[in-house]
Amino acid sequence: MNTTQTETVHDRVAIAQETMTPSQMAAVGVFVASIAFALVFVQEPLIHDAMHNFRHAAGITCH
Ligand SMILES: [Zn+2]
Repeated sequence: MNTTQTETVHDRVAIAQETMTPSQMAAVGVFVASIAFALVFVQEPLIHDAMHNFRHAAGITCH
């Protein structure tokens, strides 16, 4: 167990809760969620193309 790391994260959360208003906390949550959504939205076609190219490289035609 690494209790030091857990305490550090807990302290950071406590500091954030003391220095940020609930609306700021919500704004950060929305911001993080939108970034995560954007990353998935951008990367999904790239992964699709990579798999598509891999199928062609393997000699499997799909169109
Ligand atoms: Zn194809």
